[in-house]
Amino acid sequence: MTAHDIIVLFDKPSDADKALVEKAFALAEKAHAGHKRYSGEPYLNHLTAVGMKLAEMGMGARTVAAGLLHDVIEDTDITAEMVQEEFGEEVLFLVEGVTKLSSVRYYGSDRHNESLRKLFIATSQDIRVLIIKLADRLHNMQTLAHVPAEKQLRIARETLEIYVPVAHRLGMGRIRKELEDLAFPYVYPEEYDRVTALLQAKAGKSNELLERERKVLQKRLAEIGLLDFKTSYRVKGLYSLFHKLKRKEWDIGIVYDLLAMRVVVPTVEDCYRSLGIIHKLWRPLPGRVKDYIAFPKPNGYQSLHTTVTTPNGVILEIQIRTERMHHESEFGVASHISYKEQVIAGKPVENPSRFATLIPSLFRPFNKEKAATDDIKKSRDFSHRDKIPRWIAQIGQTHTKDKSTTAEFVEDAQTDFFSNRIFVFTPVGDVVDLPVGATPVDFAYAIHSEVGDHIFGVKVNKKLVQLDTELKNGDIVEIDTRKSSQPTAKWLTFVKTSLARRRIKSALEAQQLP
Ligand code: MN
Repeated sequence: MTAHDIIVLFDKPSDADKALVEKAFALAEKAHAGHKRYSGEPYLNHLTAVGMKLAEMGMGARTVAAGLLHDVIEDTDITAEMVQEEFGEEVLFLVEGVTKLSSVRYYGSDRHNESLRKLFIATSQDIRVLIIKLADRLHNMQTLAHVPAEKQLRIARETLEIYVPVAHRLGMGRIRKELEDLAFPYVYPEEYDRVTALLQAKAGKSNELLERERKVLQKRLAEIGLLDFKTSYRVKGLYSLFHKLKRKEWDIGIVYDLLAMRVVVPTVEDCYRSLGIIHKLWRPLPGRVKDYIAFPKPNGYQSLHTTVTTPNGVILEIQIRTERMHHESEFGVASHISYKEQVIAGKPVENPSRFATLIPSLFRPFNKEKAATDDIKKSRDFSHRDKIPRWIAQIGQTHTKDKSTTAEFVEDAQTDFFSNRIFVFTPVGDVVDLPVGATPVDFAYAIHSEVGDHIFGVKVNKKLVQLDTELKNGDIVEIDTRKSSQPTAKWLTFVKTSLARRRIKSALEAQQLP
């Protein structure tokens, strides 16, 4: 594999684009030399696959470069400074974002999932970080068979619980379907067999049928003078079929979108015109016409849908859309970003101070308070960074009634606030946010002063740890209390929150009393 395998997937790459991708490829190759995947393949194959997926989605050279470099900081000797120097801070920002996200882990409680999705969105800060992470996860799922069996289930569940909802919310239909169908057999093996058998029995020869109906439709559309159109077909994804079957008491006979035909035409007018032609050609099922062009789905999806029965007895869902709508339904938010990336490609590298809050040791100017504040202001005024859109707030909102909190949450996500905070979880999945460097004692006092005052022992991710252990993003913290346990003066030397400090002091004073 070479950088060329990625570059050919670009739509009109500039010389600068090519050079950047080649350089990132060369560094990845060197840095990961000797590293192997579980499959025994060179690690570089994984990075190339991620780069190719990003290029296919239409992402720009910087995002592709970051995709190639997404594991260098964590897994090799390459430092943040080196990436910054060689590739600029935008690429570094993306690589570090992906690195940070790798600490977000799934532990399996539903309540925890909500928080985890929020954390995931918040931690990424720039949507391109999420897109790289999705491409990374897609390749990891495609190669999951090589991963040790005891890890497969966790990874597959994490994919369904975290990555699929994120892809869905971002409108990235193609990657969502692939992730779902790759994870399905690991998470629900019996149901997977059942759905596969049902689909095989019902639609085993569907491709032949679909091909025949497609020719009929093509002929008719051409007859009415529609010349510039494309048609394709698909069989419903297994995982989405599984969900539908559960709702329909496993009666595959009443799943009407098992087979679908897509008609892609140049204009919106052509969409409505084609719908008329199709309804004249084939008998529509009542109540199945949906106009998602006039009324898009919440994630932005647009198309006309109708279900018809052909004279051959085939029930077919037909989706009619323009080229732009089609591209958006496949790649979602990525299709908007790729456009923006091209526009900014020629601009000079922006001011390094933007990273002051992310990498303090590197860019913090000579401890002048005023300058530091300016830096933070500038860091927030980063016009082309692809901020998390407001509607993505809904992602963690499935069971959250308080909408304003979520809106505020996303507001916060758009600042660099998160780079100075960590998010840890209670064993039941509630999220507690603390400053970087916080310890289990800070956590305990954040829960309740009674908990803090009677800490007996602490488990982080189910392992016993010392009270002064520094907590990390995504940790699950469990506090064991005993009535007889009391704070000691030593705690004051390591707590990070003023709340904990205050409580400890007053508990110590109370101990002095007769
Ligand atoms: Mn990776």
